[in-house]
Amino acid sequence: MKISKALIIFIVLVGTFISLPKQGSAESGDVYEVGDIVLNVRSEPSSTGPVIGKLHKGDQVIAFNEHYGWLQTYYDGEEAWVAAHYLTKKKENTITKNESQELMVTGQSVYIRSGPSTDFAIVGSATIGDTYSMVETEADWYKIKLHDGSTGWIASWLTDKSSKADASEEQTGKKTGTVAEEVKGVSTSSPLDGYNIVIDAGHGGKDPGAIGLNGTEEKTVNSQTASEVAKVLSAKGATVIQTRSKDTFLSLDRRAEISNTYNTDAFISIHYNAFPVQSVQGIGTYYSSLNKDHALAEDIQNKLSGSLPLYNRGLFQEEFRVLRKNNAPAILLELGFLTNPGDYATIQTTGYHHQVAEAIADGLVNYFH
Ligand SMILES: [Zn+2]
Repeated sequence: MKISKALIIFIVLVGTFISLPKQGSAESGDVYEVGDIVLNVRSEPSSTGPVIGKLHKGDQVIAFNEHYGWLQTYYDGEEAWVAAHYLTKKKENTITKNESQELMVTGQSVYIRSGPSTDFAIVGSATIGDTYSMVETEADWYKIKLHDGSTGWIASWLTDKSSKADASEEQTGKKTGTVAEEVKGVSTSSPLDGYNIVIDAGHGGKDPGAIGLNGTEEKTVNSQTASEVAKVLSAKGATVIQTRSKDTFLSLDRRAEISNTYNTDAFISIHYNAFPVQSVQGIGTYYSSLNKDHALAEDIQNKLSGSLPLYNRGLFQEEFRVLRKNNAPAILLELGFLTNPGDYATIQTTGYHHQVAEAIADGLVNYFH
């Protein structure tokens, strides 16, 4: 039997909340128990929706939404739906309005919004270490009491409810920032000081991305490059936020949403390519908007093509969702073909990832200055 990590986290949360005083029920976050022997978890609220997992009798589910007899929950970090018919609502509404819960902001510059998604207006901002009391939760957003007595919403993944830091991806991002502070002490130049850069390692988890020679999975190579880029940019003073630092699946919308939560100055998605014809090779930079993204794409591609040993395919305009949904200047890099023997050999060297990172840093310096 497999219960997703996300589900376990929610069940743990429920455990924490049960002992706290309850002040009425929330519309969302109700707890249900699976009554059927096996219950399909689907990616859409329909009996024909793709099955992405299974729950078993006695499993507990927290529902965030209801839609024509289907309840929305999370499964493996993804939005998922289960038929309400097979679920029994537990008597207690365990996630309820609770004035006593404190949370601390873990992101560097985080927006506070008027509602529980990045679609809502920005009503304020918070920074790392700020604390607020939590009034309510909805999906993965927290309603918080602001210091002037009004309320606003903040993304849960940019906060921490306990003083003990957990190993979340945002925490990892923060650690990268800390390393940068230390490096700055001995470095004479911090040309990216004050800039927030989101580095997005493409694919991950159940999505391997392109499959290259020797069965190499793109998601793994993306991670190698992304962590080297994060290291180099941090050393040059940037605050680096990585959308994923582990082998986890993230939707394209979620990647853009993470970027939109920060005061992001540039978003860079890292990818490698594959093609059925082995001779196809080289690096390319993709942008979506001529106004918002093109200048960044040009500065980065110039530095990549000037310093990397691979063929330069140039700039491409493409309506990639992760770019289109991004409020910040956003680009997607295809850093070589895992199916081309020449590219593949180069990509296997650690020196290549460092060269890529230095070229991106130089491109960003040009772009910002
Ligand atoms: Zn890719």
